[in-house]
Amino acid sequence: MKILVPVKRVIDYNVKVRVKADQTGVDLANVKMALNPFCEIAIEEAVRLKEAGVATEVVAVSIGAKAVQEQLRTALALGADRAIHLETELNLDSLQVAKLLAKLVAEEQPQLVILGKQAIDSDNNQTGQMLAALTGMGQGTFASKVTVNGDKVQVTREIDGGLQTVELSLPAVVSTDLRLNEPRYASLPNIMKAKKKPLDVKAADSLGVVLDSKVTTLQVTAPASRQAGVIVASVAELVEKLKHEAKVI
Ligand code: AMP
Repeated sequence: MKILVPVKRVIDYNVKVRVKADQTGVDLANVKMALNPFCEIAIEEAVRLKEAGVATEVVAVSIGAKAVQEQLRTALALGADRAIHLETELNLDSLQVAKLLAKLVAEEQPQLVILGKQAIDSDNNQTGQMLAALTGMGQGTFASKVTVNGDKVQVTREIDGGLQTVELSLPAVVSTDLRLNEPRYASLPNIMKAKKKPLDVKAADSLGVVLDSKVTTLQVTAPASRQAGVIVASVAELVEKLKHEAKVI
């Protein structure tokens, strides 16, 4: 069984994001970039399925500029067998990414596609669902447990107030939630080995997908900064402030 894992290069989650002065987006100059955390979980799950003898090959794919090859090497160091880079300088939205992935699914014929539930840069949470719709595959989103049984996969999903388990016929699309697993660290020998694993580069526009975006970002703003708190001297003062300043009681 082949597993395809789309992975995205995003700002490292430890970085404090700065909005550009002209509010057209986020400042990426000299910012540490990393593998999207949910994609790391997706790679880990695919590698565990391979280690358990369920999967035979794990293929990582990333769409973007040349720099995404850094994250593909990380995916290879974490245990993916080979990588595909669909190269484009365009800033693609989820539908364009899903259309490109759908073409790749047609070429590669994976039995399972495991994606992150969302990329932490744009927080779209759309690509997996769109890919399932475009390919006609079943989808198990926000997975906290994945069990492959013959030609079916059972996915336990994190939903409001509980868990739901669905069974999908393979091939299927699964998106990962935080609690699915704890990704391993890449060891130094595996980082070295990853440099020799195959990484194919293809021009994204060679796949026959019209990369016209229907979405334009109008403005990006930073959240309003919180006002400093005040320490009150008594309960009476607190009640007074809640009544007359905050006007909540
Ligand atoms: P999103 O719908 O943008 O929040 O992303 C959800 C998931 O789709 C990510 O965790 C990745 O698995 C996949 N994805 C999104 N953008 C890309 C990309 N440019 N290249 C590869 N995979 C992507």
